[in-house]
Amino acid sequence: MLLELPIQKIPIQEIKIKKKVRLFIKREDLIHPQISGNKYWKLFFNINNYLTENPEKPFIITFGGAFSNHISAVSAVGNLAGIPTLGIIRGEELKDKWRDNPTLLFAKRNGMNLKFVTREEYRHKEKLTEFLQKEFSGALIVPEGGTNEDAVKGVKMMLNNETKDFDYLCTAVGTGGTVAGISKYCEDNQKVIGFKAVDDDSLENRISELTSKKNFNLIDSSFGGYGKIKDENIRFINDFKEKYEIPLEPIYTGKMMQRIFELIDENYFPENSRILCFHTGGLQGIEGANLLLEKQNRSLII
Ligand SMILES: *Cc1c(COP(=O)(O)O)cnc(C)c1O
Repeated sequence: MLLELPIQKIPIQEIKIKKKVRLFIKREDLIHPQISGNKYWKLFFNINNYLTENPEKPFIITFGGAFSNHISAVSAVGNLAGIPTLGIIRGEELKDKWRDNPTLLFAKRNGMNLKFVTREEYRHKEKLTEFLQKEFSGALIVPEGGTNEDAVKGVKMMLNNETKDFDYLCTAVGTGGTVAGISKYCEDNQKVIGFKAVDDDSLENRISELTSKKNFNLIDSSFGGYGKIKDENIRFINDFKEKYEIPLEPIYTGKMMQRIFELIDENYFPENSRILCFHTGGLQGIEGANLLLEKQNRSLII
Protein backbone atom coordinates (compact mmCIF):
# COMPACT_ATOMS: atom_id res chain seq x y z
CA MET A 1 0.00 0.00 0.00
CA LEU A 2 1.49 3.25 -1.04
CA LEU A 3 -1.38 5.60 -0.39
CA GLU A 4 -2.71 5.09 3.10
CA LEU A 5 -6.01 5.86 4.72
CA PRO A 6 -5.22 9.07 6.56
CA ILE A 7 -5.67 8.59 10.26
CA GLN A 8 -6.48 12.15 11.14
CA LYS A 9 -10.02 13.10 10.35
CA ILE A 10 -10.67 15.58 7.61
CA PRO A 11 -12.45 18.44 9.36
CA ILE A 12 -15.87 19.71 8.39
CA GLN A 13 -16.06 23.45 9.08
CA GLU A 14 -19.16 25.57 9.19
CA ILE A 15 -19.17 28.67 7.00
CA LYS A 16 -21.19 31.25 8.90
CA ILE A 17 -23.63 33.02 6.63
CA LYS A 18 -26.59 35.08 7.75
CA LYS A 19 -29.15 33.08 5.80
CA LYS A 20 -31.82 30.50 6.40
CA VAL A 21 -29.61 27.58 5.41
CA ARG A 22 -26.47 26.14 6.98
CA LEU A 23 -23.31 25.79 4.90
CA PHE A 24 -20.35 23.51 5.63
CA ILE A 25 -17.10 22.65 3.89
CA LYS A 26 -15.14 19.38 4.12
CA ARG A 27 -11.46 20.15 3.81
CA GLU A 28 -10.37 17.31 1.54
CA ASP A 29 -7.62 19.70 0.43
CA LEU A 30 -5.83 19.03 3.73
CA ILE A 31 -5.46 15.32 3.09
CA HIS A 32 -1.91 15.39 1.77
CA PRO A 33 0.48 18.29 1.12
CA GLN A 34 1.22 17.20 -2.46
CA ILE A 35 -1.52 14.79 -3.50
CA SER A 36 -4.36 17.06 -2.73
CA GLY A 37 -8.10 16.70 -2.39
CA ASN A 38 -10.12 14.47 -4.66
CA LYS A 39 -7.03 13.47 -6.64
CA TYR A 40 -5.78 11.52 -3.62
CA TRP A 41 -8.94 9.45 -3.52
CA LYS A 42 -9.18 9.03 -7.26
CA LEU A 43 -5.66 7.64 -7.35
CA PHE A 44 -6.06 5.55 -4.19
CA PHE A 45 -7.27 2.26 -5.71
CA ASN A 46 -5.70 2.87 -9.10
CA ILE A 47 -2.22 3.03 -7.60
CA ASN A 48 -2.66 0.61 -4.72
CA ASN A 49 -4.21 -2.13 -6.90
CA TYR A 50 -1.52 -1.69 -9.51
CA LEU A 51 1.28 -2.01 -6.95
CA THR A 52 -0.38 -4.99 -5.28
CA GLU A 53 -0.14 -6.80 -8.60
CA ASN A 54 3.64 -6.39 -8.21
CA PRO A 55 4.55 -5.15 -11.66
CA GLU A 56 8.14 -6.02 -12.49
CA LYS A 57 9.02 -2.49 -13.49
CA PRO A 58 6.26 -0.19 -12.29
CA PHE A 59 5.63 2.76 -14.56
CA ILE A 60 2.75 5.25 -14.48
CA ILE A 61 1.54 7.23 -17.49
CA THR A 62 -1.14 9.89 -17.47
CA PHE A 63 -2.54 12.92 -19.28
CA GLY A 64 -3.25 16.55 -18.43
CA GLY A 65 -3.19 20.23 -19.27
CA ALA A 66 -0.48 22.71 -18.33
CA PHE A 67 -1.91 23.54 -14.89
CA SER A 68 -3.37 20.12 -14.15
CA ASN A 69 -3.84 19.18 -10.48
CA HIS A 70 -3.88 15.57 -11.61
CA ILE A 71 -0.46 15.79 -13.30
CA SER A 72 0.88 17.45 -10.17
CA ALA A 73 -0.56 14.68 -7.94
CA VAL A 74 0.65 11.78 -10.08
CA SER A 75 4.16 13.23 -10.26
CA ALA A 76 4.19 13.48 -6.46
CA VAL A 77 3.08 9.85 -6.11
CA GLY A 78 5.88 8.81 -8.45
CA ASN A 79 8.42 10.76 -6.47
CA LEU A 80 7.26 9.42 -3.10
CA ALA A 81 7.17 5.82 -4.31
CA GLY A 82 10.23 5.91 -6.53
CA ILE A 83 8.14 4.99 -9.58
CA PRO A 84 8.99 6.57 -12.92
CA THR A 85 6.13 8.59 -14.40
CA LEU A 86 5.31 10.00 -17.82
CA GLY A 87 2.94 12.93 -18.31
CA ILE A 88 1.37 13.52 -21.72
CA ILE A 89 0.77 17.27 -21.73
CA ARG A 90 -1.68 19.16 -23.94
CA GLY A 91 0.04 21.91 -25.91
CA GLU A 92 3.15 21.41 -28.01
CA GLU A 93 4.05 25.08 -27.57
CA LEU A 94 4.97 24.34 -23.94
CA LYS A 95 7.92 22.24 -25.04
CA ASP A 96 10.39 25.06 -24.51
CA LYS A 97 8.41 26.93 -21.86
CA TRP A 98 7.68 24.39 -19.14
CA ARG A 99 10.17 26.02 -16.79
CA ASP A 100 7.90 29.06 -16.60
CA ASN A 101 4.96 26.94 -15.51
CA PRO A 102 4.96 26.09 -11.77
CA THR A 103 2.88 22.92 -12.23
CA LEU A 104 5.11 21.49 -14.94
CA LEU A 105 8.24 22.54 -13.07
CA PHE A 106 6.96 20.74 -9.97
CA ALA A 107 6.18 17.63 -12.02
CA LYS A 108 9.60 17.66 -13.62
CA ARG A 109 11.31 18.09 -10.24
CA ASN A 110 9.37 15.05 -9.07
CA GLY A 111 11.05 13.13 -11.86
CA MET A 112 8.09 13.08 -14.23
CA ASN A 113 9.00 12.81 -17.87
CA LEU A 114 6.93 15.26 -19.89
CA LYS A 115 5.82 14.66 -23.45
CA PHE A 116 4.10 17.57 -25.15
CA VAL A 117 1.53 16.83 -27.81
CA THR A 118 -0.61 19.03 -30.04
CA ARG A 119 -4.20 19.76 -29.04
CA GLU A 120 -5.28 17.63 -31.99
CA GLU A 121 -3.25 14.62 -30.81
CA TYR A 122 -4.48 15.20 -27.28
CA ARG A 123 -8.09 15.14 -28.40
CA HIS A 124 -7.55 11.62 -29.72
CA LYS A 125 -6.39 10.25 -26.42
CA GLU A 126 -7.81 6.78 -27.09
CA LYS A 127 -5.38 6.38 -29.99
CA LEU A 128 -2.52 7.62 -27.85
CA THR A 129 -3.50 5.28 -25.03
CA GLU A 130 -3.56 2.33 -27.41
CA PHE A 131 -0.11 3.22 -28.65
CA LEU A 132 1.27 3.69 -25.14
CA GLN A 133 -0.18 0.39 -23.99
CA LYS A 134 1.74 -1.41 -26.72
CA GLU A 135 4.89 0.60 -26.25
CA PHE A 136 4.96 0.26 -22.45
CA SER A 137 3.26 -3.01 -21.65
CA GLY A 138 2.90 -3.38 -17.90
CA ALA A 139 2.55 0.35 -17.33
CA LEU A 140 -0.41 1.79 -15.44
CA ILE A 141 -2.17 4.23 -17.74
CA VAL A 142 -4.40 6.57 -15.75
CA PRO A 143 -6.88 8.53 -17.86
CA GLU A 144 -7.13 12.34 -17.85
CA GLY A 145 -8.24 13.67 -14.47
CA GLY A 146 -7.86 10.12 -13.14
CA THR A 147 -11.50 9.28 -13.81
CA ASN A 148 -12.34 5.58 -14.14
CA GLU A 149 -14.18 2.96 -12.08
CA ASP A 150 -11.42 2.65 -9.48
CA ALA A 151 -11.46 6.42 -9.07
CA VAL A 152 -15.19 6.39 -8.42
CA LYS A 153 -14.66 3.68 -5.79
CA GLY A 154 -11.99 5.81 -4.12
CA VAL A 155 -14.31 8.81 -3.86
CA LYS A 156 -16.42 6.70 -1.49
CA MET A 157 -13.75 7.48 1.12
CA MET A 158 -14.80 11.12 1.08
CA LEU A 159 -18.07 9.99 2.63
CA ASN A 160 -18.42 8.81 6.21
CA ASN A 161 -20.79 8.89 9.17
CA GLU A 162 -20.44 12.65 9.48
CA THR A 163 -21.41 13.35 5.87
CA LYS A 164 -24.70 11.43 6.19
CA ASP A 165 -26.17 14.29 8.08
CA PHE A 166 -26.49 16.73 5.14
CA ASP A 167 -29.33 17.37 2.69
CA TYR A 168 -27.07 18.51 -0.15
CA LEU A 169 -23.60 17.32 -1.13
CA CYS A 170 -21.77 19.68 -3.50
CA THR A 171 -18.62 19.24 -5.52
CA ALA A 172 -16.92 20.83 -8.50
CA VAL A 173 -16.97 18.86 -11.76
CA GLY A 174 -14.20 18.46 -14.32
CA THR A 175 -14.26 14.96 -15.78
CA GLY A 176 -17.11 13.87 -13.49
CA GLY A 177 -15.50 11.06 -11.48
CA THR A 178 -15.89 12.82 -8.14
CA VAL A 179 -19.55 13.73 -8.47
CA ALA A 180 -20.23 10.20 -9.76
CA GLY A 181 -18.62 8.67 -6.66
CA ILE A 182 -20.54 10.91 -4.30
CA SER A 183 -23.78 10.13 -6.12
CA LYS A 184 -23.10 6.41 -6.11
CA TYR A 185 -22.21 6.06 -2.45
CA CYS A 186 -24.22 8.70 -0.60
CA GLU A 187 -27.43 8.05 1.33
CA ASP A 188 -30.71 7.67 -0.53
CA ASN A 189 -32.21 10.84 0.94
CA GLN A 190 -29.26 13.06 -0.03
CA LYS A 191 -29.18 15.28 -3.10
CA VAL A 192 -25.96 15.75 -5.01
CA ILE A 193 -25.05 18.86 -6.99
CA GLY A 194 -22.12 18.93 -9.38
CA PHE A 195 -20.84 22.39 -10.26
CA LYS A 196 -19.51 22.22 -13.79
CA ALA A 197 -16.19 24.00 -14.25
CA VAL A 198 -16.38 22.84 -17.85
CA ASP A 199 -19.21 23.76 -20.17
CA ASP A 200 -19.61 20.26 -21.63
CA ASP A 201 -22.95 18.70 -22.48
CA SER A 202 -21.62 15.17 -22.59
CA LEU A 203 -20.80 15.18 -18.87
CA GLU A 204 -24.28 14.18 -17.75
CA ASN A 205 -24.18 10.91 -19.72
CA ARG A 206 -20.65 10.06 -18.67
CA ILE A 207 -21.53 10.61 -15.01
CA SER A 208 -24.69 8.53 -15.36
CA GLU A 209 -22.60 5.65 -16.63
CA LEU A 210 -20.33 5.83 -13.59
CA THR A 211 -23.05 6.11 -10.94
CA SER A 212 -26.26 4.31 -11.69
CA LYS A 213 -28.31 6.72 -9.62
CA LYS A 214 -30.38 9.70 -10.64
CA ASN A 215 -29.79 11.67 -7.45
CA PHE A 216 -27.48 14.26 -9.00
CA ASN A 217 -27.98 17.60 -10.70
CA LEU A 218 -25.42 19.51 -12.72
CA ILE A 219 -25.26 23.29 -12.50
CA ASP A 220 -23.05 25.39 -14.75
CA SER A 221 -20.41 27.29 -12.83
CA SER A 222 -17.86 27.77 -15.58
CA PHE A 223 -18.16 31.59 -15.53
CA GLY A 224 -17.39 31.96 -19.21
CA GLY A 225 -15.43 28.75 -19.77
CA TYR A 226 -13.00 26.26 -18.29
CA GLY A 227 -9.89 27.94 -16.93
CA LYS A 228 -11.15 31.45 -17.66
CA ILE A 229 -10.78 33.69 -14.63
CA LYS A 230 -12.98 36.75 -14.26
CA ASP A 231 -12.29 39.67 -11.94
CA GLU A 232 -15.42 38.77 -9.98
CA ASN A 233 -13.95 35.28 -9.37
CA ILE A 234 -10.76 36.79 -7.97
CA ARG A 235 -12.72 39.18 -5.75
CA PHE A 236 -14.85 36.33 -4.44
CA ILE A 237 -11.86 34.08 -3.67
CA ASN A 238 -9.99 36.88 -1.89
CA ASP A 239 -13.06 37.95 0.12
CA PHE A 240 -13.76 34.33 1.04
CA LYS A 241 -10.24 33.78 2.28
CA GLU A 242 -10.27 36.95 4.32
CA LYS A 243 -13.62 36.16 5.89
CA TYR A 244 -13.38 32.41 6.49
CA GLU A 245 -9.62 31.79 6.33
CA ILE A 246 -10.14 29.09 3.72
CA PRO A 247 -8.17 29.30 0.45
CA LEU A 248 -9.95 28.48 -2.82
CA GLU A 249 -8.48 28.19 -6.32
CA PRO A 250 -9.89 29.85 -9.44
CA ILE A 251 -10.65 26.81 -11.65
CA TYR A 252 -12.92 24.61 -9.54
CA THR A 253 -13.54 25.36 -5.86
CA GLY A 254 -13.65 29.16 -6.14
CA LYS A 255 -16.23 29.06 -8.92
CA MET A 256 -18.28 26.39 -7.11
CA MET A 257 -18.44 28.39 -3.87
CA GLN A 258 -19.30 31.57 -5.74
CA ARG A 259 -22.16 29.80 -7.53
CA ILE A 260 -23.38 28.29 -4.25
CA PHE A 261 -23.48 31.75 -2.67
CA GLU A 262 -25.51 32.97 -5.67
CA LEU A 263 -27.93 30.05 -5.33
CA ILE A 264 -28.37 30.71 -1.63
CA ASP A 265 -29.19 34.35 -2.42
CA GLU A 266 -31.74 33.17 -4.99
CA ASN A 267 -33.34 30.90 -2.35
CA TYR A 268 -32.56 27.83 -4.43
CA PHE A 269 -32.18 25.74 -1.28
CA PRO A 270 -35.24 25.21 0.94
CA GLU A 271 -35.15 26.80 4.39
CA ASN A 272 -33.10 24.94 7.01
CA SER A 273 -31.20 22.94 4.38
CA ARG A 274 -27.85 21.62 5.49
CA ILE A 275 -25.40 21.95 2.63
CA LEU A 276 -21.99 20.28 2.53
CA CYS A 277 -19.38 21.35 -0.03
CA PHE A 278 -16.28 19.29 -0.66
CA HIS A 279 -13.07 21.28 -0.90
CA THR A 280 -11.43 19.20 -3.60
CA GLY A 281 -8.02 20.88 -3.27
CA GLY A 282 -6.05 22.04 -6.28
CA LEU A 283 -4.44 24.96 -4.49
CA GLN A 284 -1.19 24.32 -6.35
CA GLY A 285 -2.88 26.00 -9.33
CA ILE A 286 -2.96 29.42 -7.69
CA GLU A 287 0.69 30.15 -8.42
CA GLY A 288 0.30 29.49 -12.14
CA ALA A 289 -2.93 31.47 -12.28
CA ASN A 290 -1.25 34.43 -10.61
CA LEU A 291 1.59 34.40 -13.15
CA LEU A 292 -0.99 34.73 -15.94
CA LEU A 293 -2.91 37.43 -14.07
CA GLU A 294 0.29 39.34 -13.45
CA LYS A 295 1.08 39.36 -17.17
CA GLN A 296 -2.38 40.81 -17.79
CA ASN A 297 -1.82 43.48 -15.12
CA ARG A 298 -4.77 42.24 -13.08
CA SER A 299 -5.26 41.78 -9.37
CA LEU A 300 -3.84 38.59 -7.94
CA ILE A 301 -5.22 35.84 -5.75
CA ILE A 302 -3.96 36.41 -2.23
C1 LIG B 1 -9.84 17.56 -10.73
C2 LIG B 1 -10.55 18.48 -9.83
C3 LIG B 1 -11.95 18.53 -9.79
C4 LIG B 1 -12.81 17.75 -10.74
O1 LIG B 1 -12.89 16.40 -10.43
P1 LIG B 1 -13.52 15.41 -11.49
O2 LIG B 1 -13.56 14.11 -10.79
O3 LIG B 1 -12.58 15.38 -12.66
O4 LIG B 1 -14.84 15.91 -11.89
C5 LIG B 1 -12.54 19.36 -8.87
N1 LIG B 1 -11.81 20.14 -8.04
C6 LIG B 1 -10.48 20.14 -8.07
C7 LIG B 1 -9.75 21.04 -7.17
C8 LIG B 1 -9.80 19.30 -8.97
O5 LIG B 1 -8.47 19.33 -8.99
